[in-house]
Amino acid sequence: MRMKIVAGNWKMNTLPAEGAALAQDIVNAIAEVPSDVQLILAPPFTHLDRVEEVIKGSAVALSAQNCADKDKGAYTGEVSAAMLAATGCTYVILGHSERREYYHETSATLNGKMAMALVNGLRPIYCVGEKLEEREAGRHFDVVGSQIKEVLYGLTPEQIACVVVAYEPVWAIGTGKTATAEQAQEIHAFIRKTLAEKFGVLAENIPILYGGSCKPSNARELFAQNDIDGGLIGGAALKAEDFIAIARSF
Ligand code: PEP
Repeated sequence: MRMKIVAGNWKMNTLPAEGAALAQDIVNAIAEVPSDVQLILAPPFTHLDRVEEVIKGSAVALSAQNCADKDKGAYTGEVSAAMLAATGCTYVILGHSERREYYHETSATLNGKMAMALVNGLRPIYCVGEKLEEREAGRHFDVVGSQIKEVLYGLTPEQIACVVVAYEPVWAIGTGKTATAEQAQEIHAFIRKTLAEKFGVLAENIPILYGGSCKPSNARELFAQNDIDGGLIGGAALKAEDFIAIARSF
């Protein structure tokens, strides 16, 4: 049985007090969410402490949106995986397309981040996905396959068992355009097959989330697909009501 997960990526949104209020609204509504659905909140670094205070004792888990690829030292502006774990994070988003695109994160950087996350006991939510021109050129399987192989194939069986994958077609992120359930299932199945080629039956247990304009109106159809185990939610995660409605869509 794979975990069902709905994770909210708040990106660079909300001030700390607003983030704490949003987390509180989500905690208040958690009884409406089936108990086998893991909710995860990924606020900005500056809110982690406050959000952790709010969710402590609830079933909601805390995630960061990024971590450093180094252990510690003279890396101005970076935040280490150890710091995140000590702040109460149990997950960290890695390789989000916005980080790949705007901050030039490569597979080499992501290998370092992955290692740091795992060594510090954080579960990586590893994002993959193709750009519009790559899909239009029919290259989406190649692109996503390479993103999986270059960063996950070096992991041990114990390490891969900690990883969550998020498939996020770049053309669907924040655009209002969602992949159809069939398009999403097709590539989720491909990701699972690619993982199985390296990790065998362990691939069956790896949660693969869909991300890209997922909202209450389309979550049910997406989550009904065999290889879609939940969602990584951007815009709709900023409204407690929508986030909870998505989590009730399994
Ligand atoms: C995301 O960026 O992780 C995301 C899925 O964003 P949105 O839901 O806003 O498309």
